[in-house]
Amino acid sequence: IEEIPTKYTSGAEKILVKSLLGIEIPSGKFASDVGVLCLNVGTVVAIFDAVVENRPLISRAVTVAGSAVKVPKNFQVRLGASYDYLLSFTDFEEGKHKVSVAGMMMGIELKGTNYSVTKNTNCIFVGMDEKSTPAKAKECIRCGLCNTVCPVDLLPQQLYWYSKGENIDKALEYNLLDCIECGCCSYVCPSQIPLVNYYQFSKALYRQQVNEKEQNDKARDRFEFRELRLERNKRERAEMMEAKKKALKEKMASDKAQKNIIEAAVERVSSSKSDIKEQDGN
Ligand code: SF4
Ligand code: SF4
Repeated sequence: IEEIPTKYTSGAEKILVKSLLGIEIPSGKFASDVGVLCLNVGTVVAIFDAVVENRPLISRAVTVAGSAVKVPKNFQVRLGASYDYLLSFTDFEEGKHKVSVAGMMMGIELKGTNYSVTKNTNCIFVGMDEKSTPAKAKECIRCGLCNTVCPVDLLPQQLYWYSKGENIDKALEYNLLDCIECGCCSYVCPSQIPLVNYYQFSKALYRQQVNEKEQNDKARDRFEFRELRLERNKRERAEMMEAKKKALKEKMASDKAQKNIIEAAVERVSSSKSDIKEQDGN
């Protein structure tokens, strides 16, 4: 067992592999591409339950924490249980709350608690809703703060400009796909630009472009195959017609020869009949 500092983003796959094994995962690759399997504790427990205990995944550990929670706790919860039911086991501070799932930095803020626990629900954060309206994003002042905090050494400022301009090719050049969406850049940005949202949008756009390209490639392949098939059918039909024509010609030639033989035989028979008549007359 090796301990690592409890510091945000140290649990991210690429960073974990680098800090524990000193292996740098190349851009666009995963831990498995460098021969490392990176599994969290919940997954390992689920594998043990399934393989050794023959028990399917029916529950998971969920953390309930946040500034509005009096005593943060971990619960083992059945999948499908409602958030309301789970949160009924927790004491909250008085006031207006906001709820988010999947972490304070990378999580998604929810409109309410009318949701169910799924196999991906790792934590529910309930915080005090102090801000009435989210701060309005201002222009980038090119302070470079975002660049200094990126744990995977990207250039968030550049990624922001290219994402904003929907220049996905350029964003990819700046390793957009290596962004782990940790939210550190958004957090420190003095202009309060929701940088991660821009990267998520660019990634979604990129995935859409890839899908469209795949669909277009498939459609083109289908069209080319159809053209080839039609061409082949045409050629085979022409060859078949040619063969039939040849066979017909041969048959006609053979019929003619047969007819000649029959006519010759009939000729011979009628001439021998007239010979016999002549002999009888004599
Ligand atoms: S931290 Fe915000 S304002 Fe500063 S360079 Fe990055 S995006 Fe621009
Ligand atoms: S969210 Fe920002 S800080 Fe985090 S990896 Fe992406 S670019 Fe870097």
